[in-house]
Amino acid sequence: MITENKNTDAWDREHLWHPYTSTIDPLPTYKVQSAHGVRIRLDDGTELIDGMSSWWCMIHGYSDSRLNAAAAAQMNKMSHVMFGGLTHQPAIELGKELLKVAPKCMHNIFYADSGSVAVEVAMKMAVQAAISASGSHVKTNFVTIRSGYHGDTWNAMSVCDPVTGMHGAFGQALPVRYFVPQPRSRFGGEWDEADIKPLEELLAQKSDEIAALILEPVVQGAGGMWFYHPEYLRRARALCDRYSVILIFDEIATGFWRTGRFFACEHTGVSPDIMTIGKGLTAGYLTMSAVLTTAEIADTISRGEAGVLMHGPTFMANPLSCAIALESIRMLAEKPMESIVANIETILKRELAPASALEGVADVRVLGSIGVVELKRSVDVGRFQKRCVEEGVWIRPFGRNAYIMPPYIISEEDLSRLCQALIDIISDERNY
Ligand code: PMP
Repeated sequence: MITENKNTDAWDREHLWHPYTSTIDPLPTYKVQSAHGVRIRLDDGTELIDGMSSWWCMIHGYSDSRLNAAAAAQMNKMSHVMFGGLTHQPAIELGKELLKVAPKCMHNIFYADSGSVAVEVAMKMAVQAAISASGSHVKTNFVTIRSGYHGDTWNAMSVCDPVTGMHGAFGQALPVRYFVPQPRSRFGGEWDEADIKPLEELLAQKSDEIAALILEPVVQGAGGMWFYHPEYLRRARALCDRYSVILIFDEIATGFWRTGRFFACEHTGVSPDIMTIGKGLTAGYLTMSAVLTTAEIADTISRGEAGVLMHGPTFMANPLSCAIALESIRMLAEKPMESIVANIETILKRELAPASALEGVADVRVLGSIGVVELKRSVDVGRFQKRCVEEGVWIRPFGRNAYIMPPYIISEEDLSRLCQALIDIISDERNY
């Protein structure tokens, strides 16, 4: 068992809860002194090449000078002001930029605090709109696909995968949702018509109870890092239209070019009725998310019983977050993002290909700037990460998946080093 390293902080270990962690036997943590570009510097001076973008969000790398300047400039005007009864230029400008990059049908924007809260808001929107449109108080449930992940708050948890998600820990406390199998047709492979049948059958029977279908388009993230066929989304859209079910795309992980398009739904030509965005929105600087929807959904809610959308968080449209997000979106617009991500994809495919031949590897897949090596058995995270730090890289696997999703500014050399280190580590099963 690995408990100590040179960068461990004993007080932290005793008192601070880290994500999904036991207090009795916590996983080791590494104390970070600073981070610049794609380098994370630990307390003892060790430098790690970042392969995680701090869970999908640091798209321009750490401590970017333009984003730092945007934050400082906004801070000197106002860091925060309530959004109830007040508004401000950063929220307006950001909203205009978001509507330029979002699917054309998007019209109304609700700013929220985190990805999970955005999912809560999207689900509340769907329920209010479904009740208002149908006049039925039973059309309030949700259907989703297995192996999904939508966050850690109550309703978000209820639509996470029932086996790998948190249903086990919370049991009957969670609302009961409908689950259909994950589409098995791979992205870039053949479409298998059988994939859509379970959803078709479920909606034929239960659409009276179902307000919305929620899913991560094309890439399922924390539920298993699976890339599925875009045809599923086209068919799901048609079914939702046929059965008056709202379609929610959770683009929190996939947005902001991660899959090679600004939003993953662009791989399909299909638009949702509601979409959630977060993570890369503020380029990892501050927690902020948004829920976008059509004028039709917004107006249906507004014509409903409550007459208003029932949500209003304290830090809604935080000006500091909006100013940073705005600068980040402008930076994305100035860069040839399609070719930048295509180049990362080419390198990931080339450098991770040798992993397929390794004994412990079940599958290797790459899409955009996401490279996944699926192993045959679950990883011992502590042991694996100790080896990563020894190799000078930062990769955090979960379950059977070890994956790389670097900041977009990574150099070819650093990306090759990340892939090489990953392959070296998984080449010896004693490392994980
Ligand atoms: N939806 C998806 C698809 C996610 O990947 C995540 C975060 N991993 C969330 C929702 C929740 O976001 P947050 O952690 O910011 O609450």
